[in-house]
Amino acid sequence: MIINRIGRKIYKLTHPVEGEIWMLHRVAEVRSEAKEQCELEVTPQWLEAEINTYKQKGYRFVSLDTLPCRGPWVVVTFDDGYRDNYTLAYPLLKRLGVPFTIYVTTALIDNQMEAWWYPGQALGMSLGELKALATEPLCTLGAHTVDHPKLDTLTREQQRAEIEGSKRMLEEIIGREVKHFSFPHGAHNQDTLDICNELKFSTTVKSWGGPLRRGEWPNPLPRIDKQQP
Ligand SMILES: [Zn+2]
Repeated sequence: MIINRIGRKIYKLTHPVEGEIWMLHRVAEVRSEAKEQCELEVTPQWLEAEINTYKQKGYRFVSLDTLPCRGPWVVVTFDDGYRDNYTLAYPLLKRLGVPFTIYVTTALIDNQMEAWWYPGQALGMSLGELKALATEPLCTLGAHTVDHPKLDTLTREQQRAEIEGSKRMLEEIIGREVKHFSFPHGAHNQDTLDICNELKFSTTVKSWGGPLRRGEWPNPLPRIDKQQP
């Protein structure tokens, strides 16, 4: 136990932090009262201040497509494809010159499906908004399944339909290859990794795991759940 702890300490000293992949969900002027919703929301003011703090610490904000690269860097990502990513996050990040990735759950486009964690609210991005983002050089679009299931509870065939279905649908909409995938709830198993490999995603991400250290390039990549206090 002690040896493990010392080993980990030596590893950290010899492998400084190279970068952080931030996981965000919604950007909202006013955050929800319910805790499970509030945790998914940051205000534009808080996000801007956080970005400026990291810039002052010497971090560069880079696109997911430029990884792996020398740090310190931050990659900003949003899961699910909320409309506020287009209306609030996009203008802010454009003004700050910060690249970002949105992982789209394709059934949320035009609110074909309701995000059940926000009952009664139509929060998904429209097809037109998604197409507008597809032409924005700062924006990378990734897939996040069709229906947002916990992939590790599905059969291999069901997983394949969810993963490949969202990739193909998104590619058809944006007219470009979709190279990145985020596991809903972070949930995945060996089938998930195999399918993503077969579909030739260049990166996959989970919902936890902290920063990336020098020389690390794991699959899936770890992220930092970026929560506003
Ligand atoms: Zn999600």
